[in-house]
Amino acid sequence: KKITIAIDGYSSCGKSTMAKDLAREIGYIYIDSGAMYRAVTLYCLDNGLFTDSGIREEELRNSLPDIRISFRLNPETQRPVTLLNGEEVEERIRTMEVSSHVSPVAALGFVREALVKQQQEMGRQKGIVMDGRDIGTVVFPDAELKIFVTASADIRARRRYDELKAKGRPASYDEILKNVEERDYIDQNREVGPLRKAEDAILLDNSHMTIAEQKQWLAEQFQK
Ligand code: C5P
Repeated sequence: KKITIAIDGYSSCGKSTMAKDLAREIGYIYIDSGAMYRAVTLYCLDNGLFTDSGIREEELRNSLPDIRISFRLNPETQRPVTLLNGEEVEERIRTMEVSSHVSPVAALGFVREALVKQQQEMGRQKGIVMDGRDIGTVVFPDAELKIFVTASADIRARRRYDELKAKGRPASYDEILKNVEERDYIDQNREVGPLRKAEDAILLDNSHMTIAEQKQWLAEQFQK
């Protein structure tokens, strides 16, 4: 019998790697909810919705019906690719520019309302692994398995630094650390769907774990 698996946690803590690997192994569908907030942010950047004084909220609200987000599997890599209005944006949503603009967008109640609805729709059938910030608390409070992942900010920044460098898009460690801390702060302190551990989520601090160890740990939780 298939279940719903919710994996929440801090920025750059490796949740998506864990979630993706688990989904592939057990034949579940993986959904990256953060990619959806990133895609909305990319839309805002592309359409001049950020100003010096903040986000043009009314325009964004009116544009929401024009922001269509979908996923497809890259047949070669078997990795999910994010589409914004039919266009592949997987690379573009992972830049520092999007990372540094996404949390204020994700703090807007009407944005969350729209995306949470789509996420619930995508997860109507069991057999999904979804990762994010509010999956165990808001999107799927009834998920049968909930994991909350954390690691020290310093270690998370180091991992993001290595990842961006490996992808040929290096950024400074200090800038990354600042971004990770800022996103944590905004994500934890917003009014709607703040980042927090669901009471019934299992806590995983992976600061000192290898990817293989995390994989093993997660597989054990699934089997329990
Ligand atoms: O998971 P990722 O780091 O790609 O998410 C990018 C941003 O999207 C987070 O920093 C957070 O502001 C927002 N987010 C959210 N709720 C989710 C997933 C992501 O607010 N469920």
